[in-house]
Amino acid sequence: MSADLLSVSGLTKRFSRGGKAFAALDGVDFAIAPGETLALVGPSGSGKSTVARCILRLVEPDAGKIRFEGQDLLDLRGAALRSMRARLQMVFQDPLAAFNPRATVARLINDPLRIHDVARRAERPAAIASLLERVGLSPDLATRHVHEISGGQRQRVAIARAIATKPRLIVLDEAVSALDVSVRADVLKLLKALQDEDGLAYLFITHDLGVVRAVADRVAVMDAGRIVEQGAPSQIIGAPSSATARALVAAAP
Ligand code: ADP
Ligand code: MG
Repeated sequence: MSADLLSVSGLTKRFSRGGKAFAALDGVDFAIAPGETLALVGPSGSGKSTVARCILRLVEPDAGKIRFEGQDLLDLRGAALRSMRARLQMVFQDPLAAFNPRATVARLINDPLRIHDVARRAERPAAIASLLERVGLSPDLATRHVHEISGGQRQRVAIARAIATKPRLIVLDEAVSALDVSVRADVLKLLKALQDEDGLAYLFITHDLGVVRAVADRVAVMDAGRIVEQGAPSQIIGAPSSATARALVAAAP
């Protein structure tokens, strides 16, 4: 029995580009312990989002294994897959693209409560209000439409929606990248606080080493579909051994 919450091994995914197959993921291995934040960094096109999409079962890998809570994720079907989705949530860079912009905030948070049977219908308004408070938003926001609120508020709504099902892991794909610096710092603080309260683990995909410094327990560096280096943030940022990490450090502000 391993103590890992998530482990990924030999993950491989080929796409075709100009009629030729190429490996977007070429044998990716890493693990995340309960309550841990692993930052996944790397240049654009290195395969970070494809890793996220494979874990979330949005893309079927060609080879490899993904274990979550001791279960083989790629074997799950039907009810077992739905139940896993409640414990493995995601937040993307742009909630406007992910959500129906005309949906109300209440509706967006109601969906996971309903789909995963977290709260009965009569209890859902109170559950929505309490989730909004947990992410630092006023319950008055419930009746607003997604396109009417700010980018930072939208990302807080996305976080409220993700934590509604009490997950153990949230995959964040560039979730704070589009936010201004001060809004970003506040959202990172919120994510830290939720982690301290609930023992959540994060797979934190980012290209921003400032974000890595602020949140990561460990960092995995990707390049061309492979993990080229893993270690503590101080080691990756202070004494990078791979050319990829050195380039990221050199390019950082
Ligand atoms: P990152 O998130 O690190 O920027 P991605 O995982 O999005 O990288 O992409 C990795 C590589 O796979 C890129 O070359 C990208 O163009 C390619 N790719 C991603 N998704 C697809 C797809 N659905 N079809 C073809 N190529 C894809
Ligand atoms: Mg990406």
